[in-house]
Amino acid sequence: MNVCIVGTGYVGLVSAACFAEMGNNVVCVDVNPAVVKTLREGHVHIYEPGLEEMVRRNSQEGRLTFTTSLEDGLKDALTVFITVGTPCREDGSCDLQYVHAVAREVGQKMTSRKIVVDKSTVPVGTADQVRAIVAAELEARGEDIPFDVVSNPEFLKEGDAVNDFMKPDRVILGTDNPETAEAMRSLYAPFARSREKLITMGIRSAEMTKYAANCLLATKISFINEVANICEKVGADVRDVRLGIGSDHRIGYHFIYPGVGYGGSCFPKDVKALITTALENGHTPSLLQAVDSVNDAQKLSIARKVEEYFANQGGVEGKTIALWGLAFKANTDDIREAPALVMIRRLTEQGMRVRAFDPVAADNTRKALEGNDLVEIVSEQYEALDGADALAVVTEWNQFRKPDFALVKEKLSAPILFDGRNLYSPSEMAQNGFAYFSIGRPNPK
Ligand code: NAD
Repeated sequence: MNVCIVGTGYVGLVSAACFAEMGNNVVCVDVNPAVVKTLREGHVHIYEPGLEEMVRRNSQEGRLTFTTSLEDGLKDALTVFITVGTPCREDGSCDLQYVHAVAREVGQKMTSRKIVVDKSTVPVGTADQVRAIVAAELEARGEDIPFDVVSNPEFLKEGDAVNDFMKPDRVILGTDNPETAEAMRSLYAPFARSREKLITMGIRSAEMTKYAANCLLATKISFINEVANICEKVGADVRDVRLGIGSDHRIGYHFIYPGVGYGGSCFPKDVKALITTALENGHTPSLLQAVDSVNDAQKLSIARKVEEYFANQGGVEGKTIALWGLAFKANTDDIREAPALVMIRRLTEQGMRVRAFDPVAADNTRKALEGNDLVEIVSEQYEALDGADALAVVTEWNQFRKPDFALVKEKLSAPILFDGRNLYSPSEMAQNGFAYFSIGRPNPK
């Protein structure tokens, strides 16, 4: 099949590479010429395990090409995937300007029948808007070319995106048109050996399914963080509580790890967008509002512990904290809505210095924090500790799980460790001579 993917970010590029891997001819279109140039040279501009190799192989074999011209992308393709960003506006609503722009351009440039696939995460009703925009552009051209619009939300997670796309738990196909549904099922058949994984439903239900899934996952995270905060107050250990509740198969162990809150390009904006949709439609989504505010507070949980610790030493001003981890989670370079950035802004506002290390998110963070002279991003994990008064671990990269504690102790001015991911054992840390503060577990007095 000939496929066109518009927007070659995390979702677009992974989808494109995986469709090409299954033998389809895929043309990727992106408005950013620098991105297209990098991809044409056989490199990948984002960090995603396994992706660069797959992109290079399929490019070399001629099934995957890159262009800035949508016209070229549309030429032979039946399916056109919209995989551009849908960021959050100031008021929490979803900004659809990039999706609308693609729809307009498709309407202006298509010359043969198309199935336009909304893969970006978009509020209920967006497919109808896309349909109206394409139709209006065709009408303006005096053309009557058949097209259909499908909602096909994406569920991959950064850090394991290729694997998720190749072996999806399910593929949601939102369409009422049997012919369109069959074309989509045929494209996805190699990824879903069992047909039950291909779930066809109405367009609005498909759009809503994506938000419901992300909001439920976000709810689990805010729930366990709330429980963790209560554990700290009452002397319980959230690690044990997690094991105790997760063993109930109705609850399960997944997504109930306490920490510094969820970040990234999806959960924060998707929770806010569903809140906005609900309010616009006359429903007050109290649960989702609480999920969002619990998370905002949780992003500052480690910063607050740092402030409390240094309160009786004149505060954090003039002190230095070493930070391990900047990405919003391990195995990605994505720092959008990352708790580490929220924490850095809060501590540097009070005059604290930060020496930070992340295996892959350093460049993105340098750009995001440009002009903040109190932050230095270093290129080696232990270098971050030089001249620091304490260490805070914010992202759960594997290389932070078993550090050389003797070296950490030697480099810090005092052995103080704040653990935003509960990577270490409080008793072992006590034996190692650290003042150790984590999430939802008894803290030292
Ligand atoms: P991204 O920001 O990484 O990539 C978007 C790309 O689209 C950029 O390269 C940009 O240059 C390009 N673009 C913008 N306007 C364009 C246009 N008019 N024509 C061509 N290209 C254009 O975005 P992402 O993280 O891949 O997310 C894309 C969508 O998928 C969002 O709606 C997001 O919510 C959703 N989603 C993301 C993830 C994830 O883990 N990142 C997972 C599931 C769903």
